[in-house]
Amino acid sequence: MIKLRNVSKIYANGAKALVNVNLNIEKGEFVFLVGQSGAGKSTLVKLLYREEFATRGQVIINNVNLVRLKSKDIPMFRRKIGVVFQDFKLLPNKTVFENIAFAQRVIGKSSREIRNNTANMLELVGLSKKGNVFPNELSGGEQQRVCVARAIINKPQLLVADEPTGNLDQDTAWGIMDLLTQVNKLGTTVVMATHALHIVEQMKKRVIKIEGSTVAEDIAEEVPYFGS
Ligand code: ADP
Ligand code: ADP
Repeated sequence: MIKLRNVSKIYANGAKALVNVNLNIEKGEFVFLVGQSGAGKSTLVKLLYREEFATRGQVIINNVNLVRLKSKDIPMFRRKIGVVFQDFKLLPNKTVFENIAFAQRVIGKSSREIRNNTANMLELVGLSKKGNVFPNELSGGEQQRVCVARAIINKPQLLVADEPTGNLDQDTAWGIMDLLTQVNKLGTTVVMATHALHIVEQMKKRVIKIEGSTVAEDIAEEVPYFGS
C-alpha cells in the first residue's frame, strides 16, 4: 500500500530531512515511526498525504505514484487518507457533530447518510452525548477522539497520525491508542509517528526508527505465539 523508493526530502533552506529512504508498508499494517526530534518523522508523514513532495525518489500510495500526481488531483487523493495531528485542528466554530460531518458534506453524501454515519462514528469514539457541544468544551482526549472520528468517517484505507498523543496524559493517550487499534482492526492501515516509547513498547507493532534522516531500524510486529 505504501512504497518509498530512494526517497530524499531536502527543504528549500537546505535541511536534509530525509535521505534515501526505502520502505514498504502493506495494507492492514499498524506501524510506528520513532526517532529523535528532528529525525524526519513528520516529513515522512507529510510525504504520505502529499503535504510535502519528495525531492528525489518515488512515493507510491495505493498504486498512485505521487511524483506523477497533478496538483488538481491532490484533494481527491487526500480524501482517501485520514490525518490526525498532535494539536487537533478542529474547527472551533462548529459543533463536534459538524466537525465530523464536514468531511462527508465535501464529498456530497446525502443528509441522511451524513446523519447516520456521524452518529455511528460518535458512538465508536464514545462521544454520543457530545455531538452538540463545541471543541473548546471538550477535554484534550475527547477532542482527539473527535479528530480520529473525523479522519476515519470517509473510510480511508490509510490513517496517518503525527504525535496524536503528544498533548495528552497517559491514560487519555491509551484511550486514543485503543481507538487506533480498533480502526486498524476494521482494515485501515495505520502509520503513527510518536515520541511515546512506553506506548510503542507495549503495543508490540512494527517499529520503524528514523535516525540521521533515514531508516536506521525496522523491527517487525511481535506476533503472539499460541503454541500447543
Ligand atoms: P521530526 O518529525 O522527526 O521531529 P521533521 O520531519 O519535523 O522531524 O524535521 C526533519 C528536519 O527537517 C529537521 O532538521 C527540521 O528542522 C527540518 N524541517 C522540517 N520541516 C521543515 C520546513 N518546512 N522547512 C525547512 N526545514 C524543515
Ligand atoms: P496547503 O496545500 O497550503 O498546505 P492544504 O489545503 O493542503 O494547504 O492543507 C491545509 C491544512 O489541512 C494543512 O494544515 C494540512 O496539514 C491539512 N491537511 C491536508 N490534508 C489533510 C487531510 N487529508 N486530512 C486532514 N488534514 C489535512
